[in-house]
Parts: sequence; C-alpha cells; structure tokens
Amino acid sequence: MTSTIDPKSIGKPVRPRRHVRTLTGYTPEKDASGRDKWPRGEEKVWKESMRTLDKDVNDVTKSMVTHVQTSLARQPYNIDNLGAYQAAAHSARDNLLINWNDTQMTYTRKAPKRAYYLSLEFLMGRTLDNALLNLGLKDQYKDGVKKLGFSIEDILDQERDAALGNGGLGRLAACYLDSSASQELPVWGYGLRYKYGIFQQLISPAGDQLEAPDPWLDNQNPWELPRLDVTYEVRFYGHADRLDDGTGRAIWQGGQEVLAQAYDVMIPGYGTQTTNNLRLWESKPKRGFDLNSFNAGNYEGAVESSNSAAAITSVLYPNDHTNFTVGKELRLKQQYFWTAASLADILRRFKNLGKPMNELPDYVAIQLNDTHPTLAIPELMRILIDEEDLRWDHAWSIVTNVFFYTNHTVLPEALEKWPVPMIEHVLPRHMQIIYDIRTTDDAISLADSSFKKKYPGDRDRLARMSLIEEGMPKQVRMAHLAVIGSRKVNGVAELHSDLVRTTILKDFVDFEGVSKFGNVTNGITPRRWLDQCNPELSALISKTLKLDKSVWLKDLFKLEGLLPFAEDAAFRKEWAAIKQRNKERLANYVQTTLGLTIRTDAMFDVQIKRIHEYKRQTLNILGVIHRYFTLKNMSAVERKKVNPRVVFFAGKAAPAYFIAKLTIRLIVNVARVINADPDTKDYLQLYFLPDYSVSLAEVLIPASDISQHISTAGTEASGTSNMKFCLNGGLLLGTVDGANIEIAEEVGESNVFFFGHLTPAVEDLRYQHLYHPVPIEQKCPALAHVINQVSAGVFGDGGVYEPLLNTIRQSDYYLLTDDFDSYIAALAMVDEAYLDKDEWVKKSIRTTAKMGKFSSDRAIVEYAESYWNIEPVTIQKS
Ligand SMILES: *Cc1c(COP(=O)(O)O)cnc(C)c1O
Repeated sequence: MTSTIDPKSIGKPVRPRRHVRTLTGYTPEKDASGRDKWPRGEEKVWKESMRTLDKDVNDVTKSMVTHVQTSLARQPYNIDNLGAYQAAAHSARDNLLINWNDTQMTYTRKAPKRAYYLSLEFLMGRTLDNALLNLGLKDQYKDGVKKLGFSIEDILDQERDAALGNGGLGRLAACYLDSSASQELPVWGYGLRYKYGIFQQLISPAGDQLEAPDPWLDNQNPWELPRLDVTYEVRFYGHADRLDDGTGRAIWQGGQEVLAQAYDVMIPGYGTQTTNNLRLWESKPKRGFDLNSFNAGNYEGAVESSNSAAAITSVLYPNDHTNFTVGKELRLKQQYFWTAASLADILRRFKNLGKPMNELPDYVAIQLNDTHPTLAIPELMRILIDEEDLRWDHAWSIVTNVFFYTNHTVLPEALEKWPVPMIEHVLPRHMQIIYDIRTTDDAISLADSSFKKKYPGDRDRLARMSLIEEGMPKQVRMAHLAVIGSRKVNGVAELHSDLVRTTILKDFVDFEGVSKFGNVTNGITPRRWLDQCNPELSALISKTLKLDKSVWLKDLFKLEGLLPFAEDAAFRKEWAAIKQRNKERLANYVQTTLGLTIRTDAMFDVQIKRIHEYKRQTLNILGVIHRYFTLKNMSAVERKKVNPRVVFFAGKAAPAYFIAKLTIRLIVNVARVINADPDTKDYLQLYFLPDYSVSLAEVLIPASDISQHISTAGTEASGTSNMKFCLNGGLLLGTVDGANIEIAEEVGESNVFFFGHLTPAVEDLRYQHLYHPVPIEQKCPALAHVINQVSAGVFGDGGVYEPLLNTIRQSDYYLLTDDFDSYIAALAMVDEAYLDKDEWVKKSIRTTAKMGKFSSDRAIVEYAESYWNIEPVTIQKS
C-alpha cells in the first residue's frame, strides 16, 4: 500500500454530487417569496404531467398495457400469466413510488427523529397482493386484470417469495416494517440484498433433505429500485495504527475495499400514504477488475478480487437458533459490510441536518435485531473518534443513547461469539475499540464507574461479564457488547424477557439496574396473516362487526366484538364453512403441487416451523407413531369411533444440522408407511410438505384446526406462528412457553391445550437425566415402545435413526421422556374436544376474538414510544 488514506474519507459517498441532493430527493432552492423554486421549465407543466395514483379500472388497464409495451417490451397478444404479473407489478410499483417519494420528501423537510431497524433477515414473502391491499387498489386491479383476460389469483401466484430470512426473526422484521408504515412511523429497514435467499428444500425418495439454491432474482425483482448514486466504501483487513497524541485515535488503512450499493424496497402502510424504505446493500468490487492482470493476460486473476467482493452478499446463511457458522469469516464480513454501510448512510442523512454530533440520539434510534448487527457499536465509536475527533467518553455517551438491542434466544448454542484472532485480522481497528471498551475503568462499562467499588475483588463476576471469553481462541461475546452499548435491551415475550433478566444477563441487570431490561411481546401483521391469507374470514368478520376492514385491521382489539356471536348458531355455521373451504383450498394446493390426495373431512393438525430439537418435531412424530400403533390395535368397530386426523409438517433444517435432518427423514418414512396402511389410512394421514415458506404458510394456516407449538419450556423465546394460527381460528396445542402463555392469558386457558413441564422444573429434570438416569422402559413405557419399533425398522432401516433416538435415550436434553405422557394425554383431549363440533367452533371464534394484543401494530408502537421515542409523521403531498 503506497498512499495514505485520510480516515475521514471513509464512509463518505463515493460519487461526488453535482446537485444539492439529499438522499431521498432533490432539495429545491427557494425563490424570493420563500417557496420552492422549480429548477427548470414551468411548474404548471410539471404538475399536470405527473403520474398520479391509479383510481379506477381504466387507470389500471392503461397502466398495465403501457408497461407491457414499454417495461416488458412485449406485444399484447403475447402475454402469459407471468407477463401479466410483471405488468401488474410494474404498475403497482408506480403507485408505490408516488407515495414513497412524498414520504421521503416529508421526512427530509420535517426532519423527525427516525428509527432504523437493522436486521440481517427480512422474510418478506410475496409483495403484489400486499401492495394492492395497502394502496387500497385490490378491487381495481382484480377487475382490471379480468378485463384484460386474466384472473388475479393466477397472476398473484406467479410471484416468487422474497425469502431473505430463515424463519421467525426475519418474518418479524417484515411484519414490523408493515406496521411501522401503517402507523405512519418514520422507520427504515436496513439489510442485505442476498443474491440467493434461504435454500430451496427438496425431499429425496429416501426422505433426505436436499438443498438447492434460491435464485429469486432470476425473473428480476420489480419491487426494488437500484440506487446507483448511493454507494459507500467498506474496508476489511489492513492495519490500524494508533496515533501518539493521547486521543485514542487511530488510522486504519490498507486491506481490501469493497463497495456497498443500495437497493431500495418500498414498504407501503395500510390505509396511509406512508411508504417507508427498506434499504438492502449489495457488495461490489471497488474496481471492476485489476487492469494490470487483465493486460498481462491473467483473466482469472483479474476477476478474482471482483469475485471475492461480490461473494459478501451472495448468500444468506441458513442458520436459525443454531450457530454452524461460528468461525466463518465470510459471515463476519457480511455483518460488518452491512452495519458499516448502514451507519455511513444514517450518519450522512443526519449530517445533512447540520446538527452537532451530540444531537445524534435526538434524531436517530437504531434497533439491533439480535446480535447480528452488534459491530455497529464499535463502528460508530470508530467513526466518532477517528473521523469526528470526539473524545472517548463523549463518543460512548452518544453510542449508548442511539442503540437498542433485542435478544431473541437464551439457548447457549445460539449466542453469537467471534474468535478474537479473526476480528483482529478482518477488523483490526474494531478489535482495538472492543478492547478499549473492556479496559476502560478496567471494567465493563462507563455506565457505572463504581463497578469495582460495587463488587470489590469479585473476579468470577468480572470474568462472567467480560466482553471476552477466555479460551483457545479467546472469543468476543456479542450479546455482552450489545447490552453495554445499548440504551435498552428487550426480550420478545414476557417469559423470555424474565429469563433474559434472570439467566443470561443477570449480572448486567445487577450492574445496570433492571429498568434497562424490558419486554416487547412480538406481534404479526393482521393484514397479511388474516385479510390476505384468509379473505373469506376477513369478509365475515367485517360483515359481523358491521365495520369496514380498514377499521378493525388497524385496531385489532375490535375483534372482541365477535365474542357474542360464538353463541349464534348461524354465525358458527358460516365460520365452520370457511374453515372447511380453507381445507379444500389446501388440499387443492397439495393436489396440484405434489399430486397427493388429501381428505378434507378430517381434523387438520399442523406443525410448521424450522426443524430444531428444541421445537420438538420429534415429539410430534413419535406421538403420531403412538397413535398409529393405537389404531392398529383397535378393532374395526372401535376405529370407526375415531376422529380422522391429517397431520402436516413443514420446515427446513439447517443443512449441517444432522439430527434435524434425521427428524425429517423419519417423518417422511413414517408417512410412507402410515398412508399406505389400509387398516389405518382412513383415520390417520401424515404429510411432510417440502420447502416451507411464507406463501406455504399462508395456505396452511387458515386450514388448521389445531397447531402444535411444543418447545421444551423456556426454549422458544416467543414464537409467532402460534399467533398466526390463533388469529385464523386454529386452536393451540402447546407447552407453557414463549408467547403461548400470553395467548392463553388472552383467549382463556379453556380454549388452549397445554401440557408438559414448566420452565422452573427444566433445570432439575436435566440434572436428573445426567446424574440419576432412569431407563425409558421404566420412566415412559409408551415412548419406549415407539422408539423400539422405530429402531426395529418398522419405518425402514432402523439403524439410520439411532443417532436421533440416542438423543432421547441418553441425556434427553429437550425432555421428551418427561413430557411424552402428558403430550399424549393432551392429544386425547384435543380428540375429545373435537367430537363436540359446536363447542369446538365456539372455541375457535373465541380464540380469534381475543387476539387483538398480537397485532404487530401494538408491538411497533411499544418500540416507538418506550424505546425509540419517535412519533408518527403525516405525509404531505408534493
Ligand atoms: C411465522 C413464520 C415463522 C416462525 O414460526 P415459529 O413457529 O414461530 O417458529 C417461520 N417461517 C415462516 C415462513 C413464517 O411465516
């Protein structure tokens, strides 16, 4: 490296701007009377020529046909469903952009405090239907595409899911964006534009999960806007040299420089003009390729650096509550690339306000969705100290008023740690800063300089709380860094937040005071998870409440108005008929996509979520096997009294998670045997639906009678699919865990099926397993029988399943042997309850009626008011 780089140039926009531009648009000059001066031409001509929002069917058809001719460059007679989808998407996007422009202009003018939601995952699903709903243009588009000879259902079905997430955490981020815009809150999301989202799951004939890439951008993505003018340089490696001036400043230079380029995704609010922004970063080489190598004929060498830059945002890591990526340098680079670009962007916007740096917390709140963006904390310190010349204490007081941290798990194996040598290598300056945070006051944090006085000589506590975990190698504990660098910390359901306070962060609660550690129970958007996925139920609710859906979808507590109708037989009949049609819709979907015929006169029992030992799909499948043997042992007459049941599973396993993959294999092979058994197939069917996604969830959830959320107590932080099912009138079978508890509080315990040991018992039970093990045959004969049959090969090669079965026979960390009997009893209670159809439908209605609390609107307003201190902004028309 020859040239010395001024550290102040890092994070500056790469392209010089010729106009006075802000990020979000042109800032016009003022004329003599103080009004915006139009740069050229006549204002009147401009205004009359502006594209306005579509109003009626004619606007829609005109706009779609224009896009067929122009954006798609195709002939009208040559348009298939995909073409019609693309035309409709482009046309809807025009509408979104009108509101998006007005929103960004209003934010720039009014300069409110804004919140930024940093999430490595956004599991958005499909966009067109949601865009039309939020724009209030669903009917116009339905009629418009019909006039053009298409059906809206077929067109919506053409869209690929945007699956830039693994599961609940990414879907939560998507729901929060929807609610922020719907509540007119100035919130932007920041994430990565992965070229490949979560892998596509295929199931081999033997029942193995196979992973295929998800090239979701292959058909182009009409919902994003490349911003060629918004790029930042991000540095990796190199060396950081401290200055000798006693300021703690350093110069970081050399290494690799990569460009971050912005893509903006429009996030419309429901029934508002607010259209917020989700900014996703793509990595690009700073220079296309090395010209010297190219000239020397070394073509491969020439593109090498460009490949390594592009690799940063090429693929989403397929982990969920499981850290198989520990020690993967590329994942660390992803995290830094994303936080550095996002912070540079946020700071540039703040600087345009012309305010001094110490006012940053008055204008900016940054939410860290899990520890993935924790590097933003040392990165902001680096910028404030090395580039802005602030003193350490001053910088630290700014940082600790800007960030907020949401914890998503107390599972020890899911807590992020990065090896110190790796951070030293990839981010040498950040490692210095992390050490400085640690050694300042020889303690944990500047928040209380009396730390040593408070705990004189308590070395154990200091070691427990340290940012650095001793060992070979030493590791940085990201959760500790997130806690001390944030203004507030929250868990995602009451029980989980309690566990955070009393277990993994207990020392920090003692040290910093309990008021820093709060709770915001997760929520889901009722637009997607009721109105869009279950339109018939939504219509029935509106009719019954005598309210337009635009009212109750924004004030979900209004659903309580359904309660009296539980006693109305005619209403119950309509309610049940809709459930039935949703089952038929699901059966139809399975028939067309998988060629399987599903009976629809049965109870639909659903467990769909990432496959993980803590979620205990294994408990469910062993329960299914138990039911199968019970049925086999019945006489034909006895069997006739049994309620038919169809059990559905769906979910992906992390590709390196061997035990989770074995669970899938077991489910698939049990299904093969059960579904072919003439004795039982009229009473029990089992399906594993491959490639779980948001769109699959939207078909499965409205069809469910009962859904299973059966994690070992204390392991599921919240869960959100439990909320989706209950909102759609599916009853809940679950453990006393996560948000199940709060759902039961709302809907009443008589309307949920709880089983299993409670959280306080778990530690002791695990201890018993280790130190006083009791053979399964003795402890739980029913389970022992099931396990032995699997082992004996009733469902194909028994030996294959030994590693899975051994997790139960040995330490049984997730307590299947402790909970199996009460699980089977709970399933029997579900059967019994289902026999009384009337009572069952009443429970279903009462459940939906009491789900108001679980709207993500409620959750996001809690963040806005209790954490970020931001207010709604009314959007002005341009
Ligand atoms: C809601 C949702 C999840 C989260 O499900 P949990 O059961 O809460 O873990 C995961 N994946 C998808 C596609 C979802 O829609």
